[in-house]
Amino acid sequence: MKIQQILEIKELKKYYRVTSGLIPRPVGDIKAVDGVSLTIAEKEVLGLVGESGCGKTTLGKTILRLEEPTSGEILFNGMDVVKLNKGDMRKLRGKLQIVFQDPDSSLDPRMTVGGSIEEALVIQGIKSAGERTERVGALMEKVGLEAGFYERYPHEFSGGQKQRIGIARALAMDPELVIADEPVSALDVSVQAQILNLMMDIKDRDGLAYLFVSHDLSIVKYISDRVAVMYLGRIVEMAEKHEFFKDPLHPYTEALLSAIASLRPADKEKILLKGDVPSPLNPPSGCHFHTRCHRMIAICPEVDPAYREVAPGHFVACHLY
Ligand code: SF4
Repeated sequence: MKIQQILEIKELKKYYRVTSGLIPRPVGDIKAVDGVSLTIAEKEVLGLVGESGCGKTTLGKTILRLEEPTSGEILFNGMDVVKLNKGDMRKLRGKLQIVFQDPDSSLDPRMTVGGSIEEALVIQGIKSAGERTERVGALMEKVGLEAGFYERYPHEFSGGQKQRIGIARALAMDPELVIADEPVSALDVSVQAQILNLMMDIKDRDGLAYLFVSHDLSIVKYISDRVAVMYLGRIVEMAEKHEFFKDPLHPYTEALLSAIASLRPADKEKILLKGDVPSPLNPPSGCHFHTRCHRMIAICPEVDPAYREVAPGHFVACHLY
């Protein structure tokens, strides 16, 4: 059976021009997203991992055109999102939704939560007030909130409840793909599992696909079908989940996994990643990871490794493969 790809990204770039001097002159580009290609199939969860500053959030925002891409293609159900005008983009945005790390950022503190969810239905063009109220009630129930909370304000809710409201707001648009940007990392550990289970229930019920952005590999292991690892604006490894955790190839992936005791193979030592992620304004030569890599070889600082498929569905950018 042919897999229906809902999202296809080809060589996507998002650069930010940096200027300096009294008369500003360009001195370089911050390559926040630097040639990313990936696909997400219908009802699939693609986990996207990497340290802070590796470009995960910018990638999510660029897919939604909350940040304008510098170049590349974003195909959503075959339609080139980059070429859409503002009006068509607004219509499409309902199908492509985002859930933020901080639920407060997507909720207006002066608006009741019912009103906040209803606003999404107004944008969607549902004119009947009665239908909107009914749908808000159903959405609140779907995310585990009492319909009686309609008239309450965001400050009256806990972090977990506010994230449920954020999810209800995203679902109000009947999306096909949700970009979930660290949706549980601001929540207490006890609440994280509830929100993750809720997101999985909704995915199974409504047939949603997720791009699940996280720095937490244990969460990604729980929720994803495939996993992609990002470093300095590029995908350096991508594989089906079981293959990814059984046979990680890229030294960066090895290091990330080894940092978590429960994910570290019994025969493997913990690998300490040296230093921080280098500046994307001036990335290291050759393989961008070579300054921190525990398996570097002579060619690494000289030549940028190609990103290629080394086993069915398993892609890696490293000279060792
Ligand atoms: Fe390490 Fe070289 Fe592979 Fe880069 S190409 S990850 S430096 S071994």
